[in-house]
Amino acid sequence: MSKAPGKHYRKEISLMDMFNMFPDNEAATRWFESVAWEDGRLCGHCGSVHTSSVKNGKPMPYWCKGCRSYFSVKTGTPLQKSNVPMQKWCIAIYLCLTSPKPVSSMQLHRDIKVSQPTAWSMLQRIREAWMQDDEYTFGGPVEVDESYFGSRHSSMSNRKRKELKDIDRGAVGKRAVVA
Ligand SMILES: [Zn+2]
Repeated sequence: MSKAPGKHYRKEISLMDMFNMFPDNEAATRWFESVAWEDGRLCGHCGSVHTSSVKNGKPMPYWCKGCRSYFSVKTGTPLQKSNVPMQKWCIAIYLCLTSPKPVSSMQLHRDIKVSQPTAWSMLQRIREAWMQDDEYTFGGPVEVDESYFGSRHSSMSNRKRKELKDIDRGAVGKRAVVA
């Protein structure tokens, strides 16, 4: 899941763009598959390329012949255990990838109508999934709400810490404190 819009691609995105790209969960899933499986479909359990589509997509859209398991594009990603619909995930991811300014959990909370703690957790997972890759890092980094961050810092690599230090901490996210 390394391929993502590059810096040159990062511009303010309009609501219309979002509406056209992610009109529903189905379209959002197709987009996410195209990003995650740019080089072809892989099983999220074992990485096998020997997979097939499942008729009617039940219980899951794909079947792995390697490990004989069902999977979807969310399998093995930070989205796997989330109840947040794909449309909201994709809008959140796309916002993070394209926004010239850091995306705060308050902004996400308002933009995609999830609770602020859910928005925070989504941003966290997006960071973890995309910032590991040196080839791709968020140029306009995701806002960090420091009030939540304390314990996580200690278990982080130096590189990650540095990345966090480099983040431009605007005032916006800091107001986002949950009672
Ligand atoms: Zn497999």
